[in-house]
Amino acid sequence: MTTSNVESPLDVAQIRADFPILHQVDDEQHPLVYLDNGASSQRPKSVIDCLSDVYAKHYANVHRGAHRLSGESTDLFEVARRAVRQFIGAASENEVIFTSGTTMGINLVARSWGDSNLKKGDEILLTEMEHHSNLVPWHQLAERTGATIRAIPITKDGQLDLDFLPKLLTERTKLVAVTAVSNVLGTINPVGQIITAAHAAGAKVLVDAAQAVPHEAIDVGLWDADFVAFSGHKMLGPSGVGVLYGKEILLDEMPPFLGGGSMIDMVEIDRFTPAMLPAKFEAGTPPIADAIAMTPAIEYLEEVGLERILQHEQSLAAYAHELLSDVKGLRILGPEVTAKAGIVSFVVDGLAASDVATFLDGRGVAVREGHHCTLPLHKKLGISASVRASFYLYNTREEVEKLSDAVHAAVEFFG
Ligand code: PMP
Repeated sequence: MTTSNVESPLDVAQIRADFPILHQVDDEQHPLVYLDNGASSQRPKSVIDCLSDVYAKHYANVHRGAHRLSGESTDLFEVARRAVRQFIGAASENEVIFTSGTTMGINLVARSWGDSNLKKGDEILLTEMEHHSNLVPWHQLAERTGATIRAIPITKDGQLDLDFLPKLLTERTKLVAVTAVSNVLGTINPVGQIITAAHAAGAKVLVDAAQAVPHEAIDVGLWDADFVAFSGHKMLGPSGVGVLYGKEILLDEMPPFLGGGSMIDMVEIDRFTPAMLPAKFEAGTPPIADAIAMTPAIEYLEEVGLERILQHEQSLAAYAHELLSDVKGLRILGPEVTAKAGIVSFVVDGLAASDVATFLDGRGVAVREGHHCTLPLHKKLGISASVRASFYLYNTREEVEKLSDAVHAAVEFFG
């Protein structure tokens, strides 16, 4: 039996009933087939209701007012921080910084930790499958400090070639920045193994967990990661909020990234002293309602069960591999289904990815096309763009069939 025949462990019909946006049709009555979850997931009613409830009943600025509403919103904001702490296995709430998303979290580390710890001759080790968010902040850091960028190459089947690790990890390596799951190939990287090797070489590790946290139970303590960044909007939560996890001992030593209200202990006309954690890294008014709505998002994921979610997505990916395998000239990027999350990116000989995606959209199938913010990866693969279908807990086998039917039709139409 192939993985694609394995029955989903989820009651998908019941899950879909919780997601109002999924029940729409386009002008030609095609039901929405939402397969762009790698870019952003949709939200269950509990998250949408929470947002409206906060604004209708509890909203005020946090950590400021002496009044009742500010107390209520502050309590809810800190409840969300506790929910995140428990969700990712952090040791303390001081290690959970609310950001605007993965990009902001990585920039925070590059500016604050990077500027204080790197110098000319030091090396930053990345991988060839990183998202621009986990590349450009390090390029900018290298420009500021004179550090050098190196990268772990990928194998032909889209996995990290860890045979290179002993050669690439040296006493010059100060930081390893690696994605836990590739947003294009779907590859699930052996983060724990990389962290152990990096620590043995004396380097710190930042994990880009944007594509991991929505689909697999992570434990930052088990990983022993130094920094982990992820976004709310890919894990059933609101856009505009994300999380940076950092080991308290590191965050304590780091200077603030942004300056402003809330992040200070004391300010005089010509100096300031920063606040304690986590406020030190939360300058200005945070995304209040968005952070609060992380609580129902986490509750939803935990109730369904992340292990079961990943299993479900992998069975859909396996089914997609099977159905797309007979499309003439179609090549799926990345490893075998067993080594990846529910992401199926592909190219079709002679067809522009944008044409395929537009054709699919005409049948209600929402996918992403382009370089998916991974230009170096696409260059390595010798392509300029690809089509990406990315699955989540509410997608069905019928939707995979619609994807496949639409791709077959696109190839016939353009071919
Ligand atoms: N890293 C990866 C692997 C991603 O997939 C994304 C989002 N596409 C990001 C970083 C950036 O996330 P955000 O835009 O939410 O900051």
